Amino acid sequence: MGGTGEARELAHVLSGERGLEVVSSLAGRVADPVRPGGTVRIGGFGGADGLREWLAGNRIELVIDATHPFAATMTAHAARAGAALGLPVIRLNRPGWTAEPGDNWIRVPDMATAAQTSAELGERILLTIGRQGVGVFAGYTRPWYLIRAIDPPESALPPRHEILLARGPFTVAAETALLDRHRIEVLVTKDSGGDATAAKLAAARSAGVPVVLVDRPPVPPGLIEVATVAAAHERILEYVAPRHIGPPESG
Ligand code: NAP
Repeated sequence: MGGTGEARELAHVLSGERGLEVVSSLAGRVADPVRPGGTVRIGGFGGADGLREWLAGNRIELVIDATHPFAATMTAHAARAGAALGLPVIRLNRPGWTAEPGDNWIRVPDMATAAQTSAELGERILLTIGRQGVGVFAGYTRPWYLIRAIDPPESALPPRHEILLARGPFTVAAETALLDRHRIEVLVTKDSGGDATAAKLAAARSAGVPVVLVDRPPVPPGLIEVATVAAAHERILEYVAPRHIGPPESG
């Protein structure tokens, strides 16, 4: 289950392993996704039951949930379907970000609180939360929002806004220029972690811009959690080792 840089990397690493068949699954949210190598399927499964049927129908033996840390529904479905079929589910969840000296972060539990908190902090707000959570900002009529996303949001939007369509990674210099050009007073983002989108935090730190950071959803119990592609690779080989090593090749 992909949709992240780590999932693509892992699919690439695993495709080099003899005896493994790897299928990457993408939700189909992004109009023009960066496709992992190997077999790719696109689109939802139809809930946890649909996923269970798909896993059984394709005789899947191991599930790796390498979706984004905020893709909580998919993770919950993977946990349920895996448990129903007695399949191990590895959750590859990159670590969240940690504040450094000079950071002014306000951690909030959810997007609704982020909307309220950011509106109290400033008038010119940069949203880098993807397009899905933007709807909760729609009722805020006073601030002006710069909404950055890969594809245009489809939900209701706050009346005063500009959309910026862009796909990372971004450099610190580019992020600093963006904050400056739009006179941004508050940055709202999710605690996604990883390097690909961390430049905005460095830019906010040096510009003295406060960051409203939405906490990650919890990981359901029963999943095997790993934090890196290398650790996922290692765990996967533990599960598939007997078949993967197999009998010595003749000739
Ligand atoms: P979500 O809210 O957890 O999942 C909603 C539904 O989307 C799921 O129930 C499932 O539909 C479908 N879905 C999600 N991931 C899928 C996958 N890898 N393969 C097939 N179906 C999938 O998910 P989301 O937050 O919308 O994320 C969607 C995709 O974007 C994921 O691949 C995720 O890794 C990626 N992504 C998300 C974020 C983020 O901030 N949330 C950021 C970057 C990338 P059914 O119930 O029909 O199976």
